[in-house]
Amino acid sequence: MSFSYLTQQLARQKREHLYRYRQLVEQAAGREIKIAGKSYLNFSSNDYLGLNQHPSINKAMQYGVDNYGACSTGSSLITGYHYAHQALEDTICQWLNKPKCVLFNSGFSANSGVLKALAGDDNYFWLDKLSHASLIDGAFTKQSNAKRFFHNDYQHLDNLLSKQQGKNNLIVSEGVFSMDGDQADVSKLRDIANKHQAWLYLDDAHSIGVIGKQGQGSASSQQPIEITMATFGKAIATSGAFVACDETLYDYLLNFCRDYIYSTAMSPAMAWATKASIELLQQEQWRRDKIVELSQIFSTTLKSSVKLLPTSSSIHAIVLGSEESALAIAEKLKSHGIWLSAIRPPTVKKGTSRLRVTICAGHSHNDIRYLADKINEVVN
Ligand SMILES: *Cc1c(COP(=O)(O)O)cnc(C)c1O
Repeated sequence: MSFSYLTQQLARQKREHLYRYRQLVEQAAGREIKIAGKSYLNFSSNDYLGLNQHPSINKAMQYGVDNYGACSTGSSLITGYHYAHQALEDTICQWLNKPKCVLFNSGFSANSGVLKALAGDDNYFWLDKLSHASLIDGAFTKQSNAKRFFHNDYQHLDNLLSKQQGKNNLIVSEGVFSMDGDQADVSKLRDIANKHQAWLYLDDAHSIGVIGKQGQGSASSQQPIEITMATFGKAIATSGAFVACDETLYDYLLNFCRDYIYSTAMSPAMAWATKASIELLQQEQWRRDKIVELSQIFSTTLKSSVKLLPTSSSIHAIVLGSEESALAIAEKLKSHGIWLSAIRPPTVKKGTSRLRVTICAGHSHNDIRYLADKINEVVN
């Protein structure tokens, strides 16, 4: 029978506790989420700054719909590039002090699209071991030469690059890593890139808005970065993504990046709302300060036997080990009104299944203390 492996693979997923399905979210307002008629405190949201449903962003979305439309009506190179897109690009360029920026419909598309556009016989991609699936999918294609270096191991990276003199080398890393919450050392990466005349590509999905002065993410490191990508779907609390770069790469992407050329441009209303969100988050430093303050409370309230990976971001990972124990603990927390997804392979390495807690500016001190107390109760 054709495609009989579909059923077999799904059965295997279930046997191995890896089966995935969706939860219908009935309501998500700030720190709470309602699923199957029950309300939970939400610690799985990527709305790090608590900006989702912010009145100014909602108002900008409405203004965008009324003035620029819900639909862009075309790809950017045909009829899809509107004033709202240009205004958003300008805002991002000013914010991050970058010459140019290109908008995409998602971070996934931006990462895989840009890397595919840069693939070539003489080009080498060097990715951190913990790179997001979209970077892997873009980098590891038939047309490209790609290799991963050990996570944040710059000696390993340096050794690998030493063997590739004279090629076009691109070092790829996340600014903050999505499943561990730790950070890349941008100035060290810059040093290695300079030594080997390589370019740097930083995926700031979890840094943008959250890390650095005015939430500039890796750009606040003051190091020159050839390519900065970030999604709008996390701290910025809208949808879509950008890639910031110099004039030449910008021009190249417009001409050769298939994900950009052959895709309908993002909704102009969404672009306008995104611009409003970025303007807001630059000014409201208290949101970033609150994440730091709450993170402090969380790590000091957890008992010492709970192993929390060190972080300066919103992401706090508690590695538990087996898929089964991670699922069981997530279930127990659910019974206490806490929504926290267990993260399992292939998202993370086998044997490192974990709870991934995201601490957001919308949480209260009491929310965080309650969470830590319940984790203390149910772990080991
Ligand atoms: C979420 C994420 C993306 C993808 O962004 P979307 O806009 O959600 O498609 C890319 N890279 C990293 C590190 C991410 O966490």
